[in-house]
Amino acid sequence: MAAEIISGTQIAAEIREELKEQVKKLKEKKGVTPGLCMVRVGEDPASVSYVSAKTKASEELGIYSETIVFPEDASEEKVLAKVEELNKDPKFHGILVQLPLPKHIDADKVLNTIDPRKDVDGFHPVNVGRLLIGEPFFMPCTPHGVQQLLTRSGNSPEGKHVVICGRSNIVGKPLMAILVQKKPGANATVTVCHTGTKDLASVAREADILVAAMGRPKAITADMVKAGAVVIDVGVNRIPDDTKKSGFRLVGDTDFEAIKEKAKAITPVPGGVGPMTVTMLMANTVRSAEMHGA
Ligand code: NAP
Repeated sequence: MAAEIISGTQIAAEIREELKEQVKKLKEKKGVTPGLCMVRVGEDPASVSYVSAKTKASEELGIYSETIVFPEDASEEKVLAKVEELNKDPKFHGILVQLPLPKHIDADKVLNTIDPRKDVDGFHPVNVGRLLIGEPFFMPCTPHGVQQLLTRSGNSPEGKHVVICGRSNIVGKPLMAILVQKKPGANATVTVCHTGTKDLASVAREADILVAAMGRPKAITADMVKAGAVVIDVGVNRIPDDTKKSGFRLVGDTDFEAIKEKAKAITPVPGGVGPMTVTMLMANTVRSAEMHGA
């Protein structure tokens, strides 16, 4: 039987409706409007488009947002000074510095300057540490989105063996930290794979829930998936496609067509994890406004 398709578009829309209500209540009961400030340096086209998607989502939910744009050659000192100013500005509950930054700016230094209580990306070392001990101010958006996809589609990771392919600081490692906690919607046995893993296929076949976050087009093939497993595809890869005007199309890290004949459920690319990431950023901003307005 063909797998159930877990629609990130649909689940993200569901969460956005809930967030709209929360924003309305915050305004009515506490007189607080959640505020998000984004900082962009330079005109990298992908960064421009990510920031504009976040602005649009903020508008849709009633979150106040502003974007500070610095020229490509702005000094590190100027960017750091702006972040420090935003840390003190009560209008903003969330601060996001869009990555990548130009090479002459130390991204770690900038991220570490954000007040951890306004760090809605969840990348500050304080938040990374708090995530590991199970007390995060904010969970990083993409792995938090993966957890929401699982729980809201009726595929709770509790008691399951989750195999995560990829150990990056923005996806694989924080997802491990989220799912291993002794908490509802987590409490899984987690294995993390990487390029040092011997025989990835045999480890992947052990998974009740298999998460692909490698950035390798279609690297997970049907023979690497246990029949009846749930597959979450985080990968977003451009591959050449002459039939498209752009000359490319987006594919994930899994061989979707073949795996959907074998898995219990699978996320598509696009329309799976992608829409969840921006939505969880909005959720973190609302959470921050609730924390600050309490
Ligand atoms: P990354 O920083 O490049 O990390 C990739 C990880 O995968 C590394 O840990 C690497 O192992 C591992 N890996 C690569 N090839 C492998 C292989 N053949 N076998 C086993 N492990 C392998 O990537 P990332 O930032 O986590 O992103 C991963 C993918 O998710 C990308 O396609 C990215 O575009 C996508 N993504 C999507 C969203 C979204 O919102 N949808 C958000 C973030 C990322 P080593 O550590 O050993 O090198």
